[in-house]
Amino acid sequence: MEKIKIMGAGLSGLSAAISLAAAGYNVDVFEKRSDCGKRFQGDINGLENWSSHVDAISEFESMNIRTNYYCEPFKTLHLTNGEEVLANTFKKPFFYLLKRGDIENSLDQGLKNQALDKGVNIHFNSNVKKEDMDIISSGPEGKKHPGILKGILFETESDDIAVCLINNKTSNRGYSYLLITKGFGTICSLNLRDTNDDADAYYKKTYEVITKLFDIDIKNEKKSMELVIF
Ligand SMILES: Cc1cc2nc3c(=O)[nH]c(=O)nc-3n(C[C@H](O)[C@H](O)[C@H](O)COP(=O)(O)OP(=O)(O)OC[C@H]3O[C@@H](n4cnc5c(N)ncnc54)[C@H](O)[C@@H]3O)c2cc1C
Repeated sequence: MEKIKIMGAGLSGLSAAISLAAAGYNVDVFEKRSDCGKRFQGDINGLENWSSHVDAISEFESMNIRTNYYCEPFKTLHLTNGEEVLANTFKKPFFYLLKRGDIENSLDQGLKNQALDKGVNIHFNSNVKKEDMDIISSGPEGKKHPGILKGILFETESDDIAVCLINNKTSNRGYSYLLITKGFGTICSLNLRDTNDDADAYYKKTYEVITKLFDIDIKNEKKSMELVIF
C-alpha cells in the first residue's frame, strides 16, 4: 500500500488524510502541536455556503467527510452599517457555524476522530520539514499579508443570531461580526493591517456599536485569538 506523509493536522491535512485513507493509502500526519485544534480556543467559525450551488456539507460527504461535529445552519444574516439593520433570510443556509479548538464537538476533533477511524496515524508534537513530506498543509502561520482579528468569546442566554457589521470605524478594510449559537457567542473585528493599536480601537468601537444595536447577554467573557495571519 502506498505511503503518504502529510505536514499539519489542521483542516486541510486531516481532510486530505481522510480522503486518501478512504482511497486505500497508508497515511501518516505529522502535527507540531500536542492535539488538533490547539491553534483555537473554542472560537466560533462560519463555514461559508453562499458561493456555490452545491451545499458545503454535501460536498464534504462526497469527500468521505461525515458531520460528526457541531454544525448549526444559519439562514438569516443581519447586515448593518452601525445604524440601520437589514435582516436577510435565504432559502438555504448561507453558512454553518462550527466550533474550533481541542474541545468536544469541534470541527478539529471531529476530523481527527474520522481520520483515526480510517486508520490514519497522527503523530503529535512532531515538528517536521517540508522537504520530508508529500503534502504540505501547515496553514497560514508565519506567512505574509497579516490580518488582525480582535474580539471576545462569551457565554450567553441570548437567541442565536448572525450579524455582519460593515463600517470604516469598526474595522480597517475588513468587517466585524456578532455570532451567537446555542449559548456561545463571539464579537470580533477583522482588520487587514498589521498594527495592533488600530485593531484594539476598531474592536472597541465594534463592541460599542453591536451592544448598542442588539440587547445581548454577555457572560464569562474571554479574549478570542488576537492575531490571525490568513
Ligand atoms: C480566530 C480565527 C477565526 C477564523 N474564522 C474563520 C471563519 O469564520 N471561517 C473560515 O472559513 N475561516 C476562518 N478562519 C481561518 C481558518 O481557520 C483557516 O483558514 C483554516 O484553519 C486553515 O486550515 P489549514 O489546515 O490550512 O491550516 P491550519 O488550521 O493552520 O492547520 C495547519 C496545521 O499545521 C501545523 N503545522 C504547522 N507547521 C508545522 C510543522 N512544521 N510541522 C508539523 N505541523 C505543523 C499547525 O500546528 C496546524 O495544526 C479563522 C481563523 C482564526 C484564527
